Amino acid sequence: MEAGQPLSTVCKYAVNQGLAGLEFCAGIPGTVGGAIIMNAGTADQGIGNRVYSLEVLNLNTLSIQTLKKDALTFSYRRLHLDNHLILGITLALSPGDPARIKQTYEDILIRKQHTQPMDLPSAGCFFKNPGPDRPAGKLIEESGLKGKTIQDAQVSLVHANYIVNLGHATCKDILALKQHIQQQVLKRYNIVLETEVITTGDGMKNE
Ligand SMILES: Cc1cc2nc3c(=O)[nH]c(=O)nc-3n(C[C@H](O)[C@H](O)[C@H](O)COP(=O)(O)OP(=O)(O)OC[C@H]3O[C@@H](n4cnc5c(N)ncnc54)[C@H](O)[C@@H]3O)c2cc1C
Repeated sequence: MEAGQPLSTVCKYAVNQGLAGLEFCAGIPGTVGGAIIMNAGTADQGIGNRVYSLEVLNLNTLSIQTLKKDALTFSYRRLHLDNHLILGITLALSPGDPARIKQTYEDILIRKQHTQPMDLPSAGCFFKNPGPDRPAGKLIEESGLKGKTIQDAQVSLVHANYIVNLGHATCKDILALKQHIQQQVLKRYNIVLETEVITTGDGMKNE
């Protein structure tokens, strides 16, 4: 498939074809190419596990190459592949019980609707989990930050690892809140929260 396909379209297609392996991507926005670069997924698995091969444009040589899974290094929310543009993706999925695959997919979507702030704009989970038993959201919540606002940027009341925009938050507000969260969690737990969200440019000028 082409890298610019919406991940949701690809997930639904797989579900409708009775192909198992992408259900955990239910509800993740963006393109398949973006999801591959971010190794998008859940706390315990990423879409990288499903990649068979990638067709890429090498931006140094301007040549198109096919990279098989063995040549790719995925880690938590990251594909280590600088200076390449993903053009096409081949995923390895397994035929399964269509009804069961659909049920799993729908259960995940419903669970997300109840546990994540779907009604307000956000960039998804803001921080990486420092460890499987230390989810960033729990650390932020236990630091008393749920509902903390800076202008219109708010630590979500639904899930503390989401920074939501209540209406007119600027990049500056979001980054100020991000910094405040990092300072408070560092003070309380001596843990440096790394961002899952990639920020580019000088956000402090984006007012
Ligand atoms: C409401 C919400 C919920 C979310 N839930 C989850 C979740 O449950 N799990 C999870 O892992 N993530 C989650 N996310 C984050 C989501 O994974 C990413 O936002 C998305 O996968 C990135 O895809 P994108 O097309 O938007 O890429 P972008 O955000 O546009 O880009 C991400 C990075 O990939 C690079 N890139 C994009 N396309 C290509 C390409 N074709 N070739 C090379 N580089 C490329 C960009 O340069 C950038 O560095 C959530 C986000 C939101 C807003």
